[in-house]
Amino acid sequence: MKEKACKNCRLIIADNLCPECKTMSASDDWIGEVIIFDSSTSKIAKIMTIEKPGRYALRVR
Ligand SMILES: [Zn+2]
Repeated sequence: MKEKACKNCRLIIADNLCPECKTMSASDDWIGEVIIFDSSTSKIAKIMTIEKPGRYALRVR
C-alpha cells in the first residue's frame, strides 16, 4: 500500500490521521520525498516552512 501525505503539513504518514495536525487530511496523490533531519539548519525546511524533522512530500494534491 502506498503511503499517504498530509495535505496540511505534507508529513508522510501510513494512516489517514496526521499525528501532527490531528486531522484526517491525508492524500495518496503526492510526489517527491524529502527527509528533514534538522529543520533549523535545512534550507529545504525553511522553503517548505517545516518546523519538525521527518519525511515530507514535496507536493500534495
Ligand atoms: Zn499534518
